[in-house]
Amino acid sequence: MSGCHAEVVNARHTVVIGAGIVGLATARELATRDPSARVTVLDKESAVAAHQSSHNSGVVHAGVYYQPGSLKAQLCIEGRLLLEEFCDDHRIDFERCGKVVVATDPHELPALDEIERRARANMVPDLRRVDRAGLEDIEPHASGIAAVHSPGTAIVDYGAVARTIAGLGLFDVRLGFEVTSIRRLRSELVVSAKAGKGADAPEQIRADRVVICGGLDADRLSESAGHRPSETMVAFRGEYWRLKPDRSHLARGLIYPVPDPRYPFLGVHFTKRVGGAVDIGPNAVLALAREGYRWSDVDLRYLARTCASQAFLRMAAVNWRAGLHELAGSLSKRLFVGRAAQLLPELTVGDVVRGPAGVRAQAVGPNGALLDDFVVARFGQEGNVVSVINAPSPAATSAMAIGRYVADRVLADPA
Ligand SMILES: Cc1cc2nc3c(=O)[nH]c(=O)nc-3n(C[C@H](O)[C@H](O)[C@H](O)COP(=O)(O)OP(=O)(O)OC[C@H]3O[C@@H](n4cnc5c(N)ncnc54)[C@H](O)[C@@H]3O)c2cc1C
Repeated sequence: MSGCHAEVVNARHTVVIGAGIVGLATARELATRDPSARVTVLDKESAVAAHQSSHNSGVVHAGVYYQPGSLKAQLCIEGRLLLEEFCDDHRIDFERCGKVVVATDPHELPALDEIERRARANMVPDLRRVDRAGLEDIEPHASGIAAVHSPGTAIVDYGAVARTIAGLGLFDVRLGFEVTSIRRLRSELVVSAKAGKGADAPEQIRADRVVICGGLDADRLSESAGHRPSETMVAFRGEYWRLKPDRSHLARGLIYPVPDPRYPFLGVHFTKRVGGAVDIGPNAVLALAREGYRWSDVDLRYLARTCASQAFLRMAAVNWRAGLHELAGSLSKRLFVGRAAQLLPELTVGDVVRGPAGVRAQAVGPNGALLDDFVVARFGQEGNVVSVINAPSPAATSAMAIGRYVADRVLADPA
């Protein structure tokens, strides 16, 4: 990783904003395709993968849920293979612990059928439908009437993957640089970045192309580059509880409920971590700041902007019941654990301690719908800005395939 540079002028310079796993995978792809090109990754934090990329469930999805033919389905399937190969090459722990999606009530069976149909269409390897007894063989402590089993679903530490990509030396990573604006100067782009809180004036970094992989800030950064996205970014916190070590045996692998098809979130699940811990979560509550990891993290400017957006108000009007359900589970440990115990009946409140939390960047469309698929936009003069506008789960699984997809757009002929 490089130190400070003076103003940089380079005829083939691409600046990637955001050193999360998507930005780093994109930078790696760009630098690999054209080793003579210069690629610089900027991030406002002092470490790579400081936000979503190291605050997630660590699941390497096999493509079970996604609408066949969607970008999510295509890039998840391709990304999983690329990720596994990368972990193999770089000796990063990659554990194929398998996953079950469990129906606990007959009314969930049609939704489980649809999940099985999608998983088969997405050619999820070794997929099986199992009954109560079959579930018991896989997860002896789980309870359900039917399940879909994906033995190839895996777990990994995405923070470790991100740090490994950044350490390959293929591109510069400049940490502690908060991008404040992106503007055009004749045929070039000028990225202004504040280097630390005490910096007098922002540094001006010139580039031929800019790629925005800003996660929770993708909408603001895109607007600054002249795009008028119709989407609004809404921050949803996902909270976890953790099984006490002597209760970790309750889950051998990953145990998921049948998700509500109206929401892109997959429901509170039991997630085994690399290293052996088992987390229960994440729920989905509105965060009060873009990086609102706790209830006490409040950003009034973010709240004012969000509440003024028609997209947010429409979303809230339709989903307030689901919002209250999640809020209640966030405020009451007993309720949260009671709901999780539908999957693992032996679970009690005394079995868990507070776990980590992550904040999802979820784009909401102008009609208030939560955007389900990945969204990448190309704009600017001759299309020299590409922005990853919506990259929710499974974007960590898919990161290397998203990197290829974005690089294709960055290197495409001028728009
Ligand atoms: C609770 C939770 C559970 C999840 N579980 C899974 C899972 O099991 N499997 C899976 O595949 N996916 C999962 N995801 C989704 C996955 O983590 C994300 O989709 C993925 O990490 C997105 O990566 P990213 O690089 O786009 O964003 P991020 O990791 O958020 O990176 C964006 C970066 O941009 C930087 N940035 C923002 N603004 C600026 C600025 N102005 N200047 C400079 N830098 C800036 C930020 O500091 C940050 O480092 C989960 C997400 C959450 C929150």
